Amino acid sequence: MKSSSAPRPLRIHYSEAFCLPSGPETVTKSRLVAQAVRRHLPSVEIVAPAPATKEELLAVHEASYLEKVFGADGGSTALGEWSEPLLASILATTGGVRDAVDEALRSGRSGSLSSGLHHAGRSYGTGYCTLNGLALAVVRALERVPSVGVLDLDAHCGGGTADILAQDPRVRLVDVSVSSFDQWTPSDPRRHHLRIVKRPDQYLEAVDEALGRLEGVSFLIYNAGMDAHGEAGGLEGVDTAIIRERERRVVAWAESRHVPVIFALAGGYRWAGLTLEQVADLHLETVKAFAA
Ligand SMILES: [Zn+2]
Repeated sequence: MKSSSAPRPLRIHYSEAFCLPSGPETVTKSRLVAQAVRRHLPSVEIVAPAPATKEELLAVHEASYLEKVFGADGGSTALGEWSEPLLASILATTGGVRDAVDEALRSGRSGSLSSGLHHAGRSYGTGYCTLNGLALAVVRALERVPSVGVLDLDAHCGGGTADILAQDPRVRLVDVSVSSFDQWTPSDPRRHHLRIVKRPDQYLEAVDEALGRLEGVSFLIYNAGMDAHGEAGGLEGVDTAIIRERERRVVAWAESRHVPVIFALAGGYRWAGLTLEQVADLHLETVKAFAA
């Protein structure tokens, strides 16, 4: 399980099912990230995950909600009108995070080009998030390790993850945001940490503080949102150099402690004028740090 001795190249999860021909970044950008990985990081293996199943999702979502997500009553998603391809995308991206857990338990590091996860609660979807693949990944990891940390550095708070997992004493929830959207209330100071950063010069210090709150976890799930970047929808002044350093610090933290770690892409948008290719290039920073 020692990541420092990982003998094989980084293996991450993605399939064509993740993407639709059009729609929000959540269902369109990962194809471009995969292309960028193949172009710039040819040693990284990209493998197709097994889609999430209704049965395993019962560990993190209400049965009645899952029925709707799977198409009952006309279907329900947080990404617009229900369709078979959209459901397939949601199940593939959710399964990618779960498969990343298995790979990281073998090799030390993995990830999935998944987004649209952390706002989904036990019985609802919101903010482009229909199913909470982070929570599913936590459940998967807890089958093999005693404790799991979720580090959520997406621009927005991970209220859905907290809705599902806040009461589990084996789970540490650590969240640094630059927006109060989906804010949640930490109820256990030993296991919960939420900080909303308002100044770019405090961002990396807040990341260090967050990492300090993860000390002792035996597995780390990193929601690596790029929407904290000022040009990708986040906090003005948080630039690519800061994001690159953020990714380096997260990986170095896990590496130095021999904690298996996985990433998910999470947010990253064209709201401030970036092209989808530029958004994908930001996400490539996460894969680069994990591949280093
Ligand atoms: Zn976000």
